[in-house]
Amino acid sequence: MAEFNIIVKGYIKRYKGSSKITSNCVYIKTKEGLKIIVDPGMDLKALMKGLKKNRIKKEKIDYVLLTHLHPDHALLSGIFKKSKIICGNIGWDFNGNIGKIELDSKEIKIIETPGHERFHYSIIIDSIIGKVCIAGDIWWFEEKEEYKNLNLKDLLYKKDDKAYNFAKLVDSRKKILEMCRWIIPGHGEMFEIIK
Ligand SMILES: [Zn+2]
Repeated sequence: MAEFNIIVKGYIKRYKGSSKITSNCVYIKTKEGLKIIVDPGMDLKALMKGLKKNRIKKEKIDYVLLTHLHPDHALLSGIFKKSKIICGNIGWDFNGNIGKIELDSKEIKIIETPGHERFHYSIIIDSIIGKVCIAGDIWWFEEKEEYKNLNLKDLLYKKDDKAYNFAKLVDSRKKILEMCRWIIPGHGEMFEIIK
C-alpha cells in the first residue's frame, strides 16, 4: 500500500482586492518504489519548506501529477526538472516531450472527474487508512469556512461559483463519495466521509 503525506496545507485567503492561495500538495511513496508529488501549488516558500521538512529531494521525484491546470495547483511543476508531469493521461517532460503517459502503478489511480474544470482528474490512493482521494477542486474551502461534519448531501451540492459545469461536478462528486473514505480537497483540511 502507498504511503502519503500532505506536505503543504492548501489555503485560500481573501483580502480587499487580492487573494493568497495555494493547493494542498501531497507526497506519495508507493511500495513499487515510485515517488510522486500531486499538485505542487503556487506558494514556493511553503513548498520548499514542506520538501525540506519531509526530507524529499525534488530531483528524486518520478512524477508530478496535476488534478487540473489552474495555476494555484500547477504553477510550481517547473521546479521538478527531472520529473514527468502528468495531467490525466497527457504528460510532459523538460526535454520538450509531450504525449500520452500511463502511470504504471497498482496503488495509484488517476480518474476523470470533470465539473470544476473541463479537464479535471482525481488521484485515488490505496492506503493503510483506506481509499484516499486527492480531489483537487471537486471540493475546496476558504479559510474560516466550515467544512467539517458536512453530510453527504451538503458535500454533493456544495456550491462552486468557479465551476465550469455544476451538473458534471455533482456526478464526479457522487463517484468519489461512493469510491473513497477520505478526501483531500483542493484547499482546506482532509476529511473523512461519514456514510
Ligand atoms: Zn484550486
